[in-house]
Amino acid sequence: AHLDRIAEIDDQLGAFLHVGAAEALDAARAADEAIAAGQAPSGLTGVPIALKDVFTTTDAPTTCGSKILEGWVSPYDATLTRRLREAGLPILGKTNMDEFAMGSSTENSAYQVTRNPWDVDRIPGGSGGGSAAALASHQAPLAIGTDTGGSIRQPAAVTATVGVKPTYGTVSRYGLVACASSLDQGGPCGRTVLDTALLHEVIAGHDPRDSTSIDAPIPDVVAAAREGANRDLTGVRIGVVKQLQGDGYQAGVLESFQQACATLTSLGATIVEVDCPSFSYALGAYYLILPSEVSSNLARFDAMRYGMRVGDDGTHSADEVMALTRAAGFGPEVKRRIMIGTYALSSGYYDAYYGQAQKVRTLIARDFQKAYQDVDVLISPTTPTTAFKLGEKVDDPLAMYLFDLCTLPVNLAGTAAMSVPSGTASDGGAVLPVGLQIMAPALADDRLYRVGAAYE
Ligand code: GLN
Repeated sequence: AHLDRIAEIDDQLGAFLHVGAAEALDAARAADEAIAAGQAPSGLTGVPIALKDVFTTTDAPTTCGSKILEGWVSPYDATLTRRLREAGLPILGKTNMDEFAMGSSTENSAYQVTRNPWDVDRIPGGSGGGSAAALASHQAPLAIGTDTGGSIRQPAAVTATVGVKPTYGTVSRYGLVACASSLDQGGPCGRTVLDTALLHEVIAGHDPRDSTSIDAPIPDVVAAAREGANRDLTGVRIGVVKQLQGDGYQAGVLESFQQACATLTSLGATIVEVDCPSFSYALGAYYLILPSEVSSNLARFDAMRYGMRVGDDGTHSADEVMALTRAAGFGPEVKRRIMIGTYALSSGYYDAYYGQAQKVRTLIARDFQKAYQDVDVLISPTTPTTAFKLGEKVDDPLAMYLFDLCTLPVNLAGTAAMSVPSGTASDGGAVLPVGLQIMAPALADDRLYRVGAAYE
């Protein structure tokens, strides 16, 4: 049914870069047999899933939305891919994304535009717009994203779906093509909080192949989602982040947020305002730390090891082949960030930019620590505005970066957060989805699910 739905509608939406129909059907048949034999490996056996094209798969190309990896097939599965297969989830295909996960609208994909199913003239969010559009248009009941600065939560918010950025280190990055290693985290996306929790349980857990993987028990997110469904938040303390509202936010988004606060109060929660002064510097710090890591990570695309090779005709040196390939293979946003990062890391500038940004990062983590002494979770709008029109911000990188204002602090601190649908707001006559962001301390991901399920 989902493959039929993809065939019916994805021409109009562009959510998938690759559909693996035969492989998905094989996996579905195997799942049916396992279920018939009473040996289903997980509660999600047989439930199909869409995978962001940044996780390696041995049976489909992995492009990361970049021409430099066109047609490249990995010799190994990412740990997350392997976990999905072992739990019996058929993988429908690979979803569109901003090139190497850099972007907020999926317009930086080298292959195609993805449209928001709620209004096809608008962006589906980014970088994981393909996964979110697939979910919102019922092409897949579950999807996987990655969140480096909001790329799971922000697409979820603008498509009225649920997305979770788990605690850093709890979902393996082995086989997740790196954007910024200290920020990247894979995570679950669904249409309900409980669906998302069931997927979270499948993908999270220690992996010795990822040196940043945490060897600690994963909180019981499924039990928390079920508890939340009782819609009783008596005793739960919720903090509203003062710095994540106000000027620059769309009026309808702020109204929806006020209503969310009223709803949470009516469910029994206590709401207080919390001051996180360093959050105002998150955007500046993120857009130094991320490009710095990008400039290093993307050095591996050297025309020798993976994918595209340009100018290999006997007349060019190896250095020239590398330069020609990178010039042709990377898009403008990737080049911009490689240049910013190289500059920020260069001797003489390192202390002023990269070193300074790392200090801000510590201050942001301390703001969170202090806040969580008094409250169980923090909340804010997920995005300052609803989905904007395709093409509206492509020529204005700074305006594009500002769309991530609310989601970045969590990645810098390595903590956990969810976006859950929170009604609608109008923009120029269009009625569009709004998201509520719920944030929790590291390894307290279960709190997101309890509050999210109570609220949804
Ligand atoms: N939009 C942010 C960026 O461009 C976040 C991307 C992400 O989370 N992968 O960096």
